[in-house]
Amino acid sequence: MSTIADNIALVSSRIQAATAAAGRPENSVQLLAVSKTKPAQALREAYAAGLRDFGENYLQEALSKQLELADLPLIWHFIGPIQSNKTRAIAEHFDWVHSVDRLKIAQRLSEQRPAELPPLNICIQVNVSGEASKSGCNPADLPALAEAISQLPRLHLRGLMAIPEPTEARAEQDAAFAAVQTLQASLNLPLDTLSMGMSHDLESAIAQGATWVRIGTALFGARDYSQS
Ligand SMILES: *Cc1c(COP(=O)(O)O)cnc(C)c1O
Repeated sequence: MSTIADNIALVSSRIQAATAAAGRPENSVQLLAVSKTKPAQALREAYAAGLRDFGENYLQEALSKQLELADLPLIWHFIGPIQSNKTRAIAEHFDWVHSVDRLKIAQRLSEQRPAELPPLNICIQVNVSGEASKSGCNPADLPALAEAISQLPRLHLRGLMAIPEPTEARAEQDAAFAAVQTLQASLNLPLDTLSMGMSHDLESAIAQGATWVRIGTALFGARDYSQS
């Protein structure tokens, strides 16, 4: 069985190869380790192998891992759907939120971000797969939403996030990620982040400008939901 350190080395070399193939600068793509359903010990191993940024989808699970790992200087990213009653804990306990798709949630995060912390880094999740996806803002609504979020005092709007409909066809992957990059470029805002690409499509995402790839399975193995 391969260890988490082996998997990190493999994923890092995939990222490097894709970055070079795209003619992009070395280290222009960061690895976000998606640790949902995985025990704190797995994150500890990933930390020992050099990772610092972890993405979690479920608030209670994330908070309990944060307690177990409080001795490590980790950077926490919330990447799951957000209900209004979860915004306060997210504003208090995370460094980044990748999954903001409506203004009400952004307003609450800004109001609830503690004064002693830096502004919360935000990506707007955009839906580029039409009816195939329930999450993410409609591209037609993106300009107004991005403009409004960029004005909120305790948020730092960094860019866009997307989860295109899964496909193994490279041309379809490229088209979806290119659409996200085009949307980002069409906004008249100083954005530096594109959060896109997962275990099966990181090469395509990097070719289309991803700056964070969010990788779970290729680092930690398949997820087992049967216990929950
Ligand atoms: C689970 C998840 C990932 C990781 O997906 P893998 O296919 O396991 O790499 C990335 N982003 C989001 C938003 C996720 O929920």
